[in-house]
Amino acid sequence: MQLPSSLLENAVNEFSKLPGIGKKTALRLVLHLLKQEVGAVEQFGDTIARMRREIQFCQRCFNISDANYCSICANSLRNQRQICVVENIRDVIALETTQQFSGTYHVLGGIISPLDGIGPDQLNIESLIHRVGQEGTEELIFALNPNIQGDTTIYYIQKKIKHLPCKVTTIARGIAFGGELEYADELTLGRSLANRLPVDSYISNR
Ligand SMILES: [Zn+2]
Repeated sequence: MQLPSSLLENAVNEFSKLPGIGKKTALRLVLHLLKQEVGAVEQFGDTIARMRREIQFCQRCFNISDANYCSICANSLRNQRQICVVENIRDVIALETTQQFSGTYHVLGGIISPLDGIGPDQLNIESLIHRVGQEGTEELIFALNPNIQGDTTIYYIQKKIKHLPCKVTTIARGIAFGGELEYADELTLGRSLANRLPVDSYISNR
């Protein structure tokens, strides 16, 4: 792509480093910014830089936060004895969007994956085990992706907290709402059958 200005080219290169943004889209965004007032573009740049500089991770659950503790951990209306274990911050946002959960989270920062060289020590697992022991946690809910790495992670953590009086559950895995049985893979269909629900609780949860 031939651009008439190296300043423009530098800006396009920066935007195209973002995930999902190719050179053409980057150029479109840069040209859009070029049409804005200088002050508005400065504010845009400052907001991004300030976000990166000042954002913190909650010392308790590793969620993104503006202070030492995130707004979920600091909220006394939420059930502080219930911990939902997730892989990353995007999962917290997805679960919060459902408005179905009123406990707290623990963000592992990844998942145990020996093939990728990721072991328990690289994740926020020790702090989770410590939390469950210290906080008198009543329920630990695993909301991890349904795959081998997710199952390995659940198995590892569950073994570590087995001696504690904490109920351990996992989110249901099964047929997607609106999906069709004949198109579900064997594993999903098998698990759905094994984890079947009484109709009463199924209907009342809808
Ligand atoms: Zn927190």
